[in-house]
Amino acid sequence: MERNRLTFDHILTPAGTLTRQSLSIDEDGRISAIEDAGDRPSDGFFAVPGMPNAHSHSFQRALCGHGEAAQPEESVKDSFWSWREDMFRLAAKITEQDLYVIARQAFGEMLAAGFSSVAEFHYLHHLVDGTPSPAMGQAVIAAARDTGIRLLLLPVLYQNGGFAQPPGAAQSRFVHDEIGDFCRLLEQLSDAPLGLAPHSLRAVAVEDLTAVLDAVDSVLGAGYPIHIHISEQMREVEECIAHHGVPPLEILSKNVELGSRWNLVHGTHFSADELALANASRCQVVLCPLTEASLADGIFAAADFQRMGGRWAIGSDSNARIDPIEELRLLEYGQRLRDGLRARLAGEQSLGATMWQQACDGGAAALAMPVGRLETGYFADIAVLAKKGALNGPAPELLADAMIVGGSRQDMAAVYVGGELRARDGAPLCGSSDQDQDYAATVARLL
Ligand SMILES: [Zn+2]
Repeated sequence: MERNRLTFDHILTPAGTLTRQSLSIDEDGRISAIEDAGDRPSDGFFAVPGMPNAHSHSFQRALCGHGEAAQPEESVKDSFWSWREDMFRLAAKITEQDLYVIARQAFGEMLAAGFSSVAEFHYLHHLVDGTPSPAMGQAVIAAARDTGIRLLLLPVLYQNGGFAQPPGAAQSRFVHDEIGDFCRLLEQLSDAPLGLAPHSLRAVAVEDLTAVLDAVDSVLGAGYPIHIHISEQMREVEECIAHHGVPPLEILSKNVELGSRWNLVHGTHFSADELALANASRCQVVLCPLTEASLADGIFAAADFQRMGGRWAIGSDSNARIDPIEELRLLEYGQRLRDGLRARLAGEQSLGATMWQQACDGGAAALAMPVGRLETGYFADIAVLAKKGALNGPAPELLADAMIVGGSRQDMAAVYVGGELRARDGAPLCGSSDQDQDYAATVARLL
């Protein structure tokens, strides 16, 4: 294999699946040319753009398997809100070294699964004793650097415990009362590409957002991506209507200028008007189907949004299961089960090609990075699937469909970031058995 050239039996491009293609990669890690492979030897079977992971809380990887037993009698407790109590208990204990170990594990698994970049929605800010410090964010940046995943760090602004409610003690590590203190943290973390994440309309007063953006502009310049949790749970929608008289996206749109830099995480309970507003504003909706299912959030109106031409991305969110193929399969199957109809998110290029490319394009917009396409000028972030299992047999034009309905991260043979090999045969290259033990010991101690 030449260092600056990769050849594949089939590649997924925005124009469809092409056969026997070679990608030239320049010194910046970008694709400089794509041409017929001629008689060059193959480096892999089916290459697709590496998936941008548009929403992750890497520390929540440690909660995998926790909180799954039924609560005696009070079934109402088995909800998003009861899970959140478990998450708060974990968040209170994690040191910067713990966070590095857990994030390294999560990022390594992302790479092994075909996610080549990640938007990390980072709200564990202060040290365990409450001292303000950039050390927690720096731990995330170090974990990304050591695994080789491409990172957009989204420091989270968190101020309230609910609509017009003060934060609780469990939220104290997340909170910046003063926007000036938050801006200082942004300056301290500016080694990494940064965006901004007002946590939610629960945690930041919508009336304050314009002043927040003005303050953050003075550190990050204009145009950085903005991510916000919105309309994940019906209780949040009801509280928003009780407080503001209208649902979340409506009140947000009345207070800020929405646009393609805005990324609306979940949107599960958007009304038809809010869906139309998200589309007209060209915001991305960031969907996290495995987490939304795990937390019993609900089913996003993806088929309606797709028909409008809406832009969406996917994220692994709580990271209990890290697998972009499974995220997309559950997204499609949720729509099928609800509607009694098949191929809900299929476009002109059928299901798999449409979903994968659309999630990549939405994810690239969410990260504000030139990723997500096997085209010249884009970073050579590439996931390569092996010719086995569901992918052994289908005609080339059906490979992406077979991947979505029959594949999984187990089919990933190689993952490249900027043309550099970062995972092979389902394992990150950075990994080691020492690191696995380190992770297991950390989780055991914390939980
Ligand atoms: Zn989230």
